Amino acid sequence: MWMLRVICCLLSVGSVVDAAGGEASTLAIDMTTRYAPYADWATVVDVNVLARQSPSRYWRTPEEVASERGQGTLPLAGLHLALDPGHIGGQWADAEGRHFRIAEDDFYVREGELVLEVARLVRAQLVALGAKVSLLREANLPVNPKSPFDYLLMAAAQVSEPTECTPKALWEYGCAMRARAERLSIVTGDLIERARLVNQEIQPDALISLHINAAAWPVAPAPAAGESESESEALRLVESNNLHALIFGCMSAGELQVGRQQAQLAVKLVNGSGAPEQLLGDALVTALAEATGLPAARYEGRNAILLDSQQPYLYARNLLMLRMAECPTVLLEPYVANSVAAYARIQAALADRAAGRALVEDDILVEYADAVVAGVLACYGADLVDSSGD
Ligand SMILES: [Zn+2]
Repeated sequence: MWMLRVICCLLSVGSVVDAAGGEASTLAIDMTTRYAPYADWATVVDVNVLARQSPSRYWRTPEEVASERGQGTLPLAGLHLALDPGHIGGQWADAEGRHFRIAEDDFYVREGELVLEVARLVRAQLVALGAKVSLLREANLPVNPKSPFDYLLMAAAQVSEPTECTPKALWEYGCAMRARAERLSIVTGDLIERARLVNQEIQPDALISLHINAAAWPVAPAPAAGESESESEALRLVESNNLHALIFGCMSAGELQVGRQQAQLAVKLVNGSGAPEQLLGDALVTALAEATGLPAARYEGRNAILLDSQQPYLYARNLLMLRMAECPTVLLEPYVANSVAAYARIQAALADRAAGRALVEDDILVEYADAVVAGVLACYGADLVDSSGD
């Protein structure tokens, strides 16, 4: 019912000029500069209607968290953060497409496992600073209780049946069915379940989604004379290693037409998550840039937009998790896992952990975690009230 009401409100087309006050014009600016900068949003979204809606939210702004904090308490007392270790890892890493190694005696690089380690390191420090921290997963297992088996009927409706009855065609059909059912379960279904947990059960003040980026693999050259095909197909690392962070925005014209996405946009617009989200994103990515010294990644297309020319690391993009989580949400993408520099550091980090050795000072996962803690402190720390002059 609630969803339907929001959709109906959004669909009532009206003038952007608002006689009722300045709030609609602020929403219009937000739509034009951040949420749908490349789309003719005014034919779909009525900011006058949205401006009259009374928002409800479960999260508190950084100022509210700081103002409720007593004197002499720990710097992050009262803050409730959720951490999302992106992806799954473990036996699902291959199906996720986040599983590789360069040489046979290297450790497998699995994004879901690396960011779970980062989340644990971040939690330990944030809890010591007084925050409450909830992890969306504690193991390399799906969050979604529905397995790929539960999606077989849906997959069957999406995968074309074979046109001929040959063993090869049947085999390919089976492979396509399995891949689609797995994707529906461990990617789309898992993200939807994570967002449900955040909004309905955890209800944190903010959500930080932890990822490590990867670049497209360079195209392998044709086998050279005397070289076998498998040798020529060996993965080659890339040179470019960089950093960026994402917050919600940059919906396309097509995405704006989808009722479900309209409703989610309305929630995020009306509940005021935009400004604290940008503040948290800025704080986190500034801390990561300082810690890593990495250059900013660059989006060339229209699927993301830079929000502030003074902050080259922070983009708005319409990803499912960013759109569905109602609280301020930031997705971090430091390092390119298949770059020469990051790959070597990831191998060293995995080797130290496998051998039970003490972690070195420049351990890449510790560096990542420490920067996240510094960013959270900058955004939600105890001196927030003092520095504002109150
Ligand atoms: Zn990722």
